Amino acid sequence: MTQQQDALFSLSADQQTLFNEEAMAATATDPAKRVEELRRLIEHHTYLYYAKDAPEISDFAYDSLMRELRELEHQHPELIDPSSPTQRVGGYVGEQFAAVRHEQRMYSLDNAMDLEELDEWLARVQDFFGRMVPVVCELKIDGSSIALTYQDGRLVRAATRGDGTTGEDVTVNMRTVKDVPLRLLPQGMPGIVREGTVEVRGEVYMPKHSFETLNRAAEESGGKVFANPRNAAAGSLRQKDAAVTARRDLSTFLYAIADQTAIAAETQWDMLQWLGEAGFHTNPDICRCTTVEEVHRFCQQALERRGDLPYEIDGVVVKVDSFAQQAAMGYTARAPRWAIAFKFPPEEKTTLLAGITVQVGRTGALTPVAELVPVVVAGSTVARATLHNLDEVHRKDVRVGDTVIVRKAGDVIPEVLGPLPELRPANAQPWQMPAECPSCGSPVIREEGEAKHHCISIECPAQAQERLVHWASRGAMDIDGMGEEIVGRLLETGRVTDVADYYTLDATELSLLDMGRVNKEGEPVRLGEKTAKKLVDNIQASKERPLARVLFGIGMRHVGKTMAEALAAAFPSVELLRNASEEQLAEVDGVGPKIARSVWVFLHTPANVEVLERLELRGVRMADDVPAGDDAGPKPLEGLTFVLTGSLVESGMTRDQAGAQLKALGAKVTGSVSKKTSYVVAGEAAGSKYDKALKLGVPVLDEAQLLKLLETGQLP
Ligand code: NAD
Repeated sequence: MTQQQDALFSLSADQQTLFNEEAMAATATDPAKRVEELRRLIEHHTYLYYAKDAPEISDFAYDSLMRELRELEHQHPELIDPSSPTQRVGGYVGEQFAAVRHEQRMYSLDNAMDLEELDEWLARVQDFFGRMVPVVCELKIDGSSIALTYQDGRLVRAATRGDGTTGEDVTVNMRTVKDVPLRLLPQGMPGIVREGTVEVRGEVYMPKHSFETLNRAAEESGGKVFANPRNAAAGSLRQKDAAVTARRDLSTFLYAIADQTAIAAETQWDMLQWLGEAGFHTNPDICRCTTVEEVHRFCQQALERRGDLPYEIDGVVVKVDSFAQQAAMGYTARAPRWAIAFKFPPEEKTTLLAGITVQVGRTGALTPVAELVPVVVAGSTVARATLHNLDEVHRKDVRVGDTVIVRKAGDVIPEVLGPLPELRPANAQPWQMPAECPSCGSPVIREEGEAKHHCISIECPAQAQERLVHWASRGAMDIDGMGEEIVGRLLETGRVTDVADYYTLDATELSLLDMGRVNKEGEPVRLGEKTAKKLVDNIQASKERPLARVLFGIGMRHVGKTMAEALAAAFPSVELLRNASEEQLAEVDGVGPKIARSVWVFLHTPANVEVLERLELRGVRMADDVPAGDDAGPKPLEGLTFVLTGSLVESGMTRDQAGAQLKALGAKVTGSVSKKTSYVVAGEAAGSKYDKALKLGVPVLDEAQLLKLLETGQLP
């Protein structure tokens, strides 16, 4: 955010208070309560995820809640409870399947959320063995855990992880998965050292393209749409009818063996080789690393290639290679100590909505902004996110004090997805747009059918730069040389705050304007005499511009160039315009009630009236010269339509200027020639419009005839 943008942003005193107190109240005061709420919420989402295969929040958000709970339990050990989700393997055993007791428990994995945490784990391993021991890096496949038991080389049972102790018997379904060997290959047999059973473990997953096809078909037929390939895999596996599973295009990657003494291998690396020889599908992206740098490199490469893989991965699993060393490190209640899952930077996190502030844009549009307790999302810290407008705040129902889900995918601008209402503080109130502009205190308005609220005060400092530059622009008052930079300096030095201040500048003063830079000699750069003189001349010349330019330049909402011309033609002075009722304004060609309202409100906002008065006082013309007798009767060119083509060399007028004068006489000026065109004015080098006029028999005026017409109001 630039300094300027920063300056455009301000908080009202009320909002400041809200900002801090409510936010902090939500967490700090009662950790026991927060722990309780988090546990209840996590359990609810664990159930939806494992039992229903239909998560309502993203894994990132879920992990974020889990982390908060783990941290609170860490800070308050008295709150630790063996039934807490942090102490268990998350899972579910459904009733439609026979329960299977795992002889060797199936564990989850501990997570490292960033490289720092990964390094902490690597350091623990080093400490444990007194040196760096070889580790194997594997991709973390985002699927569902599966255990396959082979008796004398034949598949006899397949089970889900369940709660780690008891899983579900999904043998019939798993037999339909094409890459699961129903019999081990003879090459694998010699590796089995123990007669009888061998249980291999791994992941059943759904390739990305199959997931997309499945969801597309489900959308068309109104069937169940899965949130992600992982849930689709789990859901497809846990079908009552195995024929449904068979149609779902599931695949597997195997990476573990339940009882490591069952085969001849002594390391993870060798075991993976054996799995391949025995006919299992194993992931080729593995690396045996002996240094921390190698591990980092693997993680980095996996992250980069993630999008190109035909299946989803959500991280890298790093495992101590030697089985003997694994055994030495052992397990916690839910995960092995000898392995860690390095999770890719989350694209979603939960954090606290500490406040909602209002940013005033340069055109006066008011934007609510979420002020968040800073959180690292997708590798960068997010502290603010736009909430767009009041409707959006209400649609998402986000309130100050809420725990909200924030998303930032890749380079995408951070977004608040919504609150977790279960964690809402009791006193959280729906948010309202302030009635007054936080920048200048003027009333805030919202026009019918518009999403945005606006501050329409001409004096609002947040809008000053834009207004000042616009006033000086070519289509408006055409003050050549008054660009962004000089306007910025005039604003910063406080010399100019609104457009009327331009007309108080003199050349000497301007020549000394500090441009905020230094030259080679280290002296401040000033505007200089020559430029200042020219600029002041241009400012003076702008006083004589036609009224339409003033009306366009002053920056009324919805009033562009054409509209300003139409208004000036109908009401040739600011005074007449101000005295017109909304109904009268609405009758002007192309105006209508919405723009009429906007013009009327603008011209009756005291701050705006005051600037217009000062402009007039300083010599800016606030009225067009009207041909004599005009106010009395109808205008001389009323009902006639003109088209201008070619250049008006004799008078040096632009077509816009000539058009404005014709309009002031009551004519309509359009861009194309038709049978309805009354006259075509052809200047020099007139082209196809001239030809068309001749073809349609439309009378053509040359420049001399035009000038006469403008002077007298009389047609030739
Ligand atoms: P996990 O997914 O973080 O890690 C453990 C699992 O990784 C293992 O059980 C195994 O199945 C898998 N895995 C993949 N590749 C592997 C490999 N090469 N080596 C070893 N294991 C590998 O933990 P979890 O307990 O299975 O699931 C918890 C995760 O599920 C959470 O991180 C969360 O994101 C998600 N979840 C989400 C919701 C939700 O509502 N969105 C709810 C519950 C759980």
